[in-house]
Amino acid sequence: MKLYKVDAIVLRSREMRDADRILTLLSRQKGKIKAVAHGVNKPSSRKRGAVQPFCYSSFLLYRGRELDSVNQCEGIEAFSGLRADLDRISYASYLAELTDYASMEDQINGEAFFLLLTILHLISRDGADVELLTRSFEIRLLDIAGLRPHLDNCVGCGVPVESETVGFSSSTGGVVCGRCSGIAGDVKFFPRGTVEILKLLLKWDLKKTERIKVSPRVRQQLRQIMQNYISYHLEKKLATALFLEKLYYHY
Ligand SMILES: [Zn+2]
Repeated sequence: MKLYKVDAIVLRSREMRDADRILTLLSRQKGKIKAVAHGVNKPSSRKRGAVQPFCYSSFLLYRGRELDSVNQCEGIEAFSGLRADLDRISYASYLAELTDYASMEDQINGEAFFLLLTILHLISRDGADVELLTRSFEIRLLDIAGLRPHLDNCVGCGVPVESETVGFSSSTGGVVCGRCSGIAGDVKFFPRGTVEILKLLLKWDLKKTERIKVSPRVRQQLRQIMQNYISYHLEKKLATALFLEKLYYHY
């Protein structure tokens, strides 16, 4: 069957010539898919709304020899609250790019799909703690991808790390005790409370993230831990992450 149907979140939507767009989709049924949507940039196109970034839409795709193409599509959820301000759009762009890099084409990943769908719902609400939800998304996505950092036991010797100050090394994959702190050149020290918050973000009900009270200083430390870890393990600094930094973090 050359035609197939999927429900998918638009991770990326790039304008091409002739009013076409190249889409990167994260589908529930088939994982990540690249497809071309012909003519969707024409003002008269009825598909236009459904192919915008972060839209959750239903697609009928045609399997091509090199690239699949969009036969029909219809928006299910546009997340209009998310498009209301630059802050949320920037975070959503980052979440989509991170998901794109952490996903393989044609590999079904229902967990990542539902995580992204949930987080898009949550950050599009008024009053959402977008920053903390983003940290929560990062650690959960890493967990799904099998890349979660070790947060309980020292990656050097395996003992539980219970000191007030905890070393963290991206290259060796997690927390480091005082005796093993020479294990790698990139060990940085953080209060244990910061690592405890990270553990909480992994397990806590996402919908109740706002109940976790986190000071600006700890937020900064969480961002530092996650950004270093992610750029080390993805071997890339994401363009959207750099953009977020420029926009919000001048301290
Ligand atoms: Zn150790």
